[in-house]
Amino acid sequence: MRIALFPGSFDPITLGHVEIIERGLALFDKIVVAVGTNSQKKYMFSEAERLQMLQATFAHQPHIQVESYSELTVEFARKNNIPFILRGLRSPSDLEYEQPIAYINQHLNPNIEIVCLLSKPETGHISSTIVREVIRYKGSLAGLVPDAVIKQLNLL
Ligand code: ADP
Repeated sequence: MRIALFPGSFDPITLGHVEIIERGLALFDKIVVAVGTNSQKKYMFSEAERLQMLQATFAHQPHIQVESYSELTVEFARKNNIPFILRGLRSPSDLEYEQPIAYINQHLNPNIEIVCLLSKPETGHISSTIVREVIRYKGSLAGLVPDAVIKQLNLL
């Protein structure tokens, strides 16, 4: 069985993430979507809230498993026997950000393979940063985040 890890902050999960994960299912039998804690980032949502949004989004998808971790991504992958890391690229600046991380990850664990999918033009403009601005100013989230997240945010 081919398993990939899709690590991220998901602060919050967006339809851009969902699109990459769904396309990833054509390549992998199972995708573990894992909320990590990046020590350089300040989050709008707690880890528990981000996890809850992921769980609500993928509740009915048996090939997607939601987890959280607070260690190196490659360490989490190694412990769970996951040989692939899936990432999404929206732009050249995403590649500039991803490339050194990929090199370090492969240095730390040479058995890991990093697979990047290019975003679709329809969702490539979506970022969690922009979504957080829309949330702060109470704009419409339709077309930006999964419906399950919209529901959950209305409850928060
Ligand atoms: P991180 O803090 O690890 O960058 P993010 O939640 O911001 O976590 O992103 C996780 C992954 O999803 C990254 O590979 C990022 O490039 C990708 N991603 C984010 N938004 C999109 C999008 N709209 N289209 C495609 N990939 C995306």
